[in-house]
Amino acid sequence: MARLLAVFLVVFSLACSSSPTGRRTLKVFSNAQMSQMGVTAFDELKKQTPASRDARAQAYVRCVAQAITREITTPGAPRSWEVVVFADDSANAFALPGGKIGVHTGLFKVAKNQDQLATVIGHEVAHVLADHSNERASTQMATSGVLEAMSALTGPASPAKSRTIAVLGAGAQVGLILPFSRSQESEADVLGLDLMARAGFDPREGPALWENMAKLGGSPPEILSTHPSSGTRIQALRERVKTAQPIAEKARSAGKRPRCG
Ligand SMILES: [Zn+2]
Repeated sequence: MARLLAVFLVVFSLACSSSPTGRRTLKVFSNAQMSQMGVTAFDELKKQTPASRDARAQAYVRCVAQAITREITTPGAPRSWEVVVFADDSANAFALPGGKIGVHTGLFKVAKNQDQLATVIGHEVAHVLADHSNERASTQMATSGVLEAMSALTGPASPAKSRTIAVLGAGAQVGLILPFSRSQESEADVLGLDLMARAGFDPREGPALWENMAKLGGSPPEILSTHPSSGTRIQALRERVKTAQPIAEKARSAGKRPRCG
């Protein structure tokens, strides 16, 4: 009995880890499992949604995404990132474990310059770096398990497939918004703003982006999925700009001045 308890405690403490801002979290899937699921889900999404044929838009988003992902120092993070602009009119974006970034053409309605786009991409990439979908998958897919989730992903269209894709972070794509938790959203806001600042983007455009987003009606984009009130969140972001601003200035004096368009 004591031995059993010891084994249980070891397993539990392995699964319990800390998020980048120090929250205690429960994660049961390995990095490799999460990456594999992200890669499979992205392949599925590419089959379902056409990529934008606007070569300039693809190059623009790739430029912003590369400037940001170049700054990643998180151990175990994906080394390369695939970036696709999808022809979809909703103002949305997502990033998946395994190094995948998707941006909808509709996002250009609210992300009006490279710094605002960098705010969104920084936020989405931060969700991946902080392993948020692992937390969510650990609570939501614990009953089905990773093998079932994988086979749902590669099988024909089904509620299980949509759910797995949504759990990983591309919910709007399959019409099933599974919001990240409020604490995960704040964490992605903070980490994302620091990340875009490290790439030399202007963090002051962060709050502006959120204001554009908040004015948008219709179904909420991922980054607005769990906001308590957009005012509170914009306020928190404005506070964070004070920290991010010197980071961006340092990056710029080191020659990091992205010109993506
Ligand atoms: Zn988010």
